[in-house]
Amino acid sequence: MTKELFRENSYLKSSNSVVTAIDGHGIQLDATVFYPTGGGQPGDSGWLEPTEGGKLRVVDTIKDRNTGELLHIIDGNPNAISVGEKILATIDWDRRYKLMRMHTAMHILCSIIEGGVTGGQVGEEKSRIDFDLPDTSLDKLLIQSEFDRLISEDHIVQHRWITDQEMQANVELVRTMSVKPPTGTGKVRLLEIAEVDLQPCGGTHVARTREIGHIRVGKIENKGKHNRRVNIHLEDYD
Ligand SMILES: [Zn+2]
Repeated sequence: MTKELFRENSYLKSSNSVVTAIDGHGIQLDATVFYPTGGGQPGDSGWLEPTEGGKLRVVDTIKDRNTGELLHIIDGNPNAISVGEKILATIDWDRRYKLMRMHTAMHILCSIIEGGVTGGQVGEEKSRIDFDLPDTSLDKLLIQSEFDRLISEDHIVQHRWITDQEMQANVELVRTMSVKPPTGTGKVRLLEIAEVDLQPCGGTHVARTREIGHIRVGKIENKGKHNRRVNIHLEDYD
């Protein structure tokens, strides 16, 4: 199994890794900084560079549904590299950093709005969360001012691991109704925004809320009787 370096440090941009398997256009490494699609966050893109030269573009990163293996999907010729070869694996950091800012903003949105989360999608510029809420009176201005406050207060964001048993004893932590936290490996990763939000999450986040920059609350849509979709936009800070 690939060592998932991004789970411990989301700021790692590259790693010196060894190719462990090649399956069509899916490349496996012994360790990686590439985040695979999951939890509403898209997989990383970037580059694999063999020491012998040449550069392969990674267009997506996924977990194989059947084997659970982490695959770097390349759009070039897989014969350009071979198993056992050393490569430099580098993510598209500009894109990932936006996704980290956005993903952290999603947690803040969860803390502002009461209600179970039924879906969500993190994007580089636009993200959305669906809440299970019967009332249609979400106050956009209030949500915006809460965002501004929680970001400027610069709360610390960090993760920690707990056991499956501790998770089961604290099921109220789970905000996502459609996605169960990953259990079975013996441990669960919790993401905490100090004094703001705590929930199981395997994604990548920034270290402090001020790094998110400016979030603009967009359209609030009614998607069915109990479904309120809140859209947010990432606006660059300079
Ligand atoms: Zn998260």
